[in-house]
Amino acid sequence: GISLVDMTTGQAVDANQALCRMLKTTREGFIGLGPMSFTPPEQQDVRNRMYREVVEQGFHEPWEMELQRTDGVRVPVLRSGGRVLSTDGRPHVWAVVQDITVMKSVEHQLRIAATRDSLTGLPNRHELGMRLHTLVAQLQQPESGSGFSLMLLDFDRFKFVNDTLGHAAGDGLLKAVSERLTAWISDAEHQGWTVARLGGDEFVVLAPGLSSPDRIHREGERLLMALAEPYRLDDKVIRSTASIGVAVAYGPQATPDDLLRDADIAMYEAKQAGRGGMVIFDAQMRERLQRRVQIEHALHGALAAGQMRVVYQPIVDLSSGETASVEALVRWNHPVMGEVSPAEFIPIAEDGPQILAVGEWVLRQACHQWARWQDEAPQRAPASVSVNLSRVQLAQGERLLEIVTDALATAGMPAEALQLEITEREMMRQPANTVELMRALRARGVKLAMDDFGTGASSLGCLREYPFDTIKIDKSFVTNLTRDPDVLAVASATVTVIENLGMKSVAEGVEEVGEMAVLQGLGCRFGQGWLFGRPVAGDRLLDALPVPQVAGG
Ligand code: C2E
Ligand code: MG
Ligand code: MG
Repeated sequence: GISLVDMTTGQAVDANQALCRMLKTTREGFIGLGPMSFTPPEQQDVRNRMYREVVEQGFHEPWEMELQRTDGVRVPVLRSGGRVLSTDGRPHVWAVVQDITVMKSVEHQLRIAATRDSLTGLPNRHELGMRLHTLVAQLQQPESGSGFSLMLLDFDRFKFVNDTLGHAAGDGLLKAVSERLTAWISDAEHQGWTVARLGGDEFVVLAPGLSSPDRIHREGERLLMALAEPYRLDDKVIRSTASIGVAVAYGPQATPDDLLRDADIAMYEAKQAGRGGMVIFDAQMRERLQRRVQIEHALHGALAAGQMRVVYQPIVDLSSGETASVEALVRWNHPVMGEVSPAEFIPIAEDGPQILAVGEWVLRQACHQWARWQDEAPQRAPASVSVNLSRVQLAQGERLLEIVTDALATAGMPAEALQLEITEREMMRQPANTVELMRALRARGVKLAMDDFGTGASSLGCLREYPFDTIKIDKSFVTNLTRDPDVLAVASATVTVIENLGMKSVAEGVEEVGEMAVLQGLGCRFGQGWLFGRPVAGDRLLDALPVPQVAGG
């Protein structure tokens, strides 16, 4: 649009068709009403400034402003102007205005796209970062109040929904979750809180003023409960709980990156502890995670570098004091970390591929060692050797059968001399086909033991359902046997059930003579523990075997 205005009188002189269309008027209408009528009141100043510039320097730079149409609608425009003299020498101002409505709306959309998550409309990672920076900066002010919390939420069933019901259902769940979160922070109590989506099924709640552990737990519990309500998607009802990791910023030393990382570490712990819970970050968690990462890293190549070895601990017949068997236990000596306990590194190895290599190596070592004892001293050699199996090895199915068969054949060891231990806890976590695999192992002659009985959730009644030859009663029972009459009663019933089912009872972690005496009284047949002998290297075992009369004492 182009207009021409007489500078002396301020009267409009001309307007072109394009300008009239833009302002929903006619040339006569524009001239009659005058340019000021199309300038909204708060833009009059801008317009006057542009006029001054024209007077002073002959033109004005392009400006963004708004014009008002005759029907009141505002039109964003880019306006440039300059001075011309008419044929009779009078100064005029010409103005060129360009309708930038489309550009403005694209700009607006881009701004939204840059700060909002496109699926849920929630603030995105970028926008969260900005708000987090603002909150952290506020903590720098002396009277900044009590700090704030960053709650990181992760949904436990999202991947399952995506995989089984498809991505549309997954998107639907995310939208439903974001609506619930938005509703949750929209009351007066949660004023100023932010819900953002980080991506995937990760959401963040930024809670200014929330910093006391009590209140965090209260809010977290309410939030978890609200999120655990079933979700209705089309005709389906979906349940999905969340895990929450919380990082609290008390002072200005917190950086946004630290807070997000700390919340992530706390979230990891929340998931480890079981789904649907909340954990508040503390500094020891970072150390634990660092240690875990260090171990995970060091496990690669530990076998190849010869850092692992196997030790053997006697399992003693409580009535004769003879060593009936030995348990193979892996040891790891790392050049920097020193001795790392299998209780620490086995669970970490189980999260990666290393456990398969370690487990197979221990099995082959143990079989080989058994054969060597037989060669050296057939009368004193333990009749059998017990090897711990991980659930990851069990999940190998057929492949595990092949490995066991090959290990036995290579060592020239009868299957009856090998016993495999599976912990009660892992037994509970196994899918049904594990029992089949266990039957197949037994069909080959291999013996099976349930390890750490009493630490899982199974009952005495369950024992009958599994194909075990031996049940090892966990050390926690043995330790409290002489102190707690309730434990004594449970241990007594346990031994009775095991023996009546035709299985062998083994007590783990026997450290004191008193414990041994009670166990003998209960009819427990075997014992393992420091009282009889600590785990020792294979080539030292025969000399370190417990002397029968001490145990029988
Ligand atoms: P576990 O299979 O229940 O082994 C018994 C644990 O109790 C061993 O700990 C043993 O050293 C310890 N122990 C024995 N007698 C006593 C006692 O009188 N007092 C006390 N306080 N402890 C005693 P270790 O060697 O540290 O092994 C810990 C766990 O790591 C084992 O528990 C087993 O679950 C796992 N593990 C060890 N070696 C292997 C392996 O080669 N493969 C797999 N998958 N797991 C293994
Ligand atoms: Mg064991
Ligand atoms: Mg055990």
